[in-house]
Amino acid sequence: MMEFCPKCGTEKGPFIKGFCIKCFLEDNKLIDIDKKFHIGKCKRCGKILVSGRWVKDDADNLAKFLMSKIKWHSLAKKSLDIEIVREAKGAKLYLNVSGEIEGEPITATYESFIEYRFQYCDACLKISSAYHEAVIQIRFQDKSKEKKVLFLVKEILASKLREDALAEIVKTIRRKNGLDLLIGSKKAAKLVVSELKKKYKASVKVSPSLIGITKDGKNKIRYTYSVRIP
Ligand SMILES: [Zn+2]
Ligand SMILES: [Zn+2]
Repeated sequence: MMEFCPKCGTEKGPFIKGFCIKCFLEDNKLIDIDKKFHIGKCKRCGKILVSGRWVKDDADNLAKFLMSKIKWHSLAKKSLDIEIVREAKGAKLYLNVSGEIEGEPITATYESFIEYRFQYCDACLKISSAYHEAVIQIRFQDKSKEKKVLFLVKEILASKLREDALAEIVKTIRRKNGLDLLIGSKKAAKLVVSELKKKYKASVKVSPSLIGITKDGKNKIRYTYSVRIP
């Protein structure tokens, strides 16, 4: 007896559960995936929110997000390849699924879209509200050094930004003999000051001030550094 597809009548195999592969895929999915998702994206630094954490908007993290949303149907030797096409509003995704059913290889492509919901990540929210844990007051004997020093400060902060999202100048206030720099992170500020000390033989005075109490009862301290560059 000749085997044929009861839906389209083709006698060309292979057959899965009695149907040709084309007809089988019309009525059966290899995975379930929503057509559209929303994902938080920081409008300042561009990070995305994946399972409660702000992370880099790269292919790995988008894939990780997507993997948690996929529901697999019974498929042996399953594999998934995700193509990402970026757009201004989000990313278009092509999910190429392959595997075996009843020993027959089968592949299908599904589309989905991740749409950005623009907001601020935790760190950028702090920065945008001028939150700062340290102030560096730089005073110059020779004001012509100002430009170079500011450049160095920015360079040091930029090198820390990956691990410390608050490593930024929140505000720059120009003074007669120098600059006041409001710095988001106290750790980064400390590093900047020690570099200025080393490179310019600056004299440094630090004065802590209490700016509040944290939720778990610890003192919140802001450090003000007076840095004199000869
Ligand atoms: Zn068919
Ligand atoms: Zn951000």
